[in-house]
Amino acid sequence: MFPAIVGVAAASFMAMAEKGHLSTWKSWWTSLTQPAATRASGDRMKLKLLDQVNYVRIAAKHHPVKIDPELQDLLEAYQKTEIPENLDEVVDQVQNSIPRYYRVTVSSASRPSPTDLIHEFASFAQKTESEMTHFGFVVVPSSGGLSQRGLIVVGQRLDDFSPEILQSSQTDAFFNTCNHCGHPHICRVSNKQRSMTLACPSCTKTYAVVAADTHGRFRYVNEFLSGYKPPALFPKDQSRIQKLFTIWSAVHAHCTYKLDPETKRTQLDAWQTAVETQNIQAGDCEDSAIFLADWLGAEGFQVRVALGKYGDMGGHAWCVVRLDGSDYLLESTEGRPDMNNPPLAEFIGSRYVPEALFDRKAIYARSKPNGVWTGDYWSAKIWLQVEPRNASQAGKTAANSKRTRFISLNSKETYRLFMEPERMAIAKAPAPALAPFADLNEIPQGSKWEKTIEDRFGMPQP
Ligand SMILES: [Zn+2]
Repeated sequence: MFPAIVGVAAASFMAMAEKGHLSTWKSWWTSLTQPAATRASGDRMKLKLLDQVNYVRIAAKHHPVKIDPELQDLLEAYQKTEIPENLDEVVDQVQNSIPRYYRVTVSSASRPSPTDLIHEFASFAQKTESEMTHFGFVVVPSSGGLSQRGLIVVGQRLDDFSPEILQSSQTDAFFNTCNHCGHPHICRVSNKQRSMTLACPSCTKTYAVVAADTHGRFRYVNEFLSGYKPPALFPKDQSRIQKLFTIWSAVHAHCTYKLDPETKRTQLDAWQTAVETQNIQAGDCEDSAIFLADWLGAEGFQVRVALGKYGDMGGHAWCVVRLDGSDYLLESTEGRPDMNNPPLAEFIGSRYVPEALFDRKAIYARSKPNGVWTGDYWSAKIWLQVEPRNASQAGKTAANSKRTRFISLNSKETYRLFMEPERMAIAKAPAPALAPFADLNEIPQGSKWEKTIEDRFGMPQP
């Protein structure tokens, strides 16, 4: 029988070669030598290897890895081509196709029998890192079908960044796509930090500002504005500017400046909502700015909270209001509201340099983060609007991986950790968390809320 089969095979080969169908012959030969049973045995090997890897991981108290269908699709394409000899190519392909792979480990081996092949990966299974999350495996025939070549990939596939995932995550690495330019990248932030800004490593623009609330939950900072309107009666026939001063004075009078826990401030700082600040009648600069902006916004004022620097004093938060063509720069914690000396930004604004703004709807990032500050709080050219929950879909571009740090373990294994700057978000604590504001002796303390603001504050009448 055997010679006859060779004869048939040779005849078929001749026929197809004549028509220039070498590749067809190759796939025919592959299907003859690797029938459906091999695919099934490939699946069995995959599950055995997964067990082998997870057995070690569970013993070491690491999370088990799971099969990633997206990675699996990518690897199974090698059944039609070939597994590259240089495993760095595999890593490149994984990372370029699925940029959310942060750590990638690859190993490959060839053995005639599936049992030997699984055994060959035993040492690899011993050393997968605790951070790894996903797994993929493919086996293809090699040496003309006499042997099988297996390729195993174990990697850390990152979740998309969100305040909620930051809250619950065991890891400090996340995936993000820049809302401005679509650049896919990794951000490393710790949920031990209480507030942070994230900026794109490619365009350097801020795309998120996140802070922890008093329950330890993370939120985008614009979500601290809830449209809260304290129960208050305003004097009848007040002008808009008088109403502005009434609300400003009320926040001022009822918000005692209080630092969050003194030491390690950046780590323990919790941001308060307007309701919380009203209830405890205390807060630091961002708490009172949120209270003031929320109330003003609820009363129909065009208002934004600014996070940035005040002169040499460092980080600060304040409010900016546009009314009748003028910009007012409102300090919620310092000084004293004075109708006769309105805080026009054009006169007092030079020492205030905002880095990010927010209102209830959005965060506003500077279009030129390192450009000269011109004093314009409203221009859409200067302030790019980011609605953090509406992530950009622009970002399908593969990241440049030229400066990848990688360690080649040996010819059949390779490992990479993507730490190069263009892939890492710029994460820092936002300015208000860095430095307190001083000179706050003027603020009255211990007063209670009243229903009628008019009586308590004796607002100037026109
Ligand atoms: Zn960007």
